[in-house]
Amino acid sequence: MARMPHHQATTTPDDRCPLCGRPLGTEHVDRHHLIPKTFKGRDQYPIHKICHRKIHSAFTERELLQTYHTWEALRGHADIAAFIVWVAKKPAGFYTRTYTANKKKGR
Ligand SMILES: [Zn+2]
Ligand SMILES: [Zn+2]
Repeated sequence: MARMPHHQATTTPDDRCPLCGRPLGTEHVDRHHLIPKTFKGRDQYPIHKICHRKIHSAFTERELLQTYHTWEALRGHADIAAFIVWVAKKPAGFYTRTYTANKKKGR
């Protein structure tokens, strides 16, 4: 089976995080699949690592697939909205491993 050409988005320091709207910077940048890879999602978006972790701690893959597959839907959720307010005051490269406000839901 032939390998699909891999779409690799390049980032510049001026790019903004689609979740929190702050500049992405160059450190701690992850990629998020709006449609989870588990469900054959292919499009990936550069996003702060901390924002990415927040998404995955707040939602299960199924919730991401069914409801939170747009940035608008994600930002519209109360937990995420509160997170965006909180993270807005942090420097762009801010990342802490210990930040996990929400325990993972369900299973
Ligand atoms: Zn962000
Ligand atoms: Zn993700």
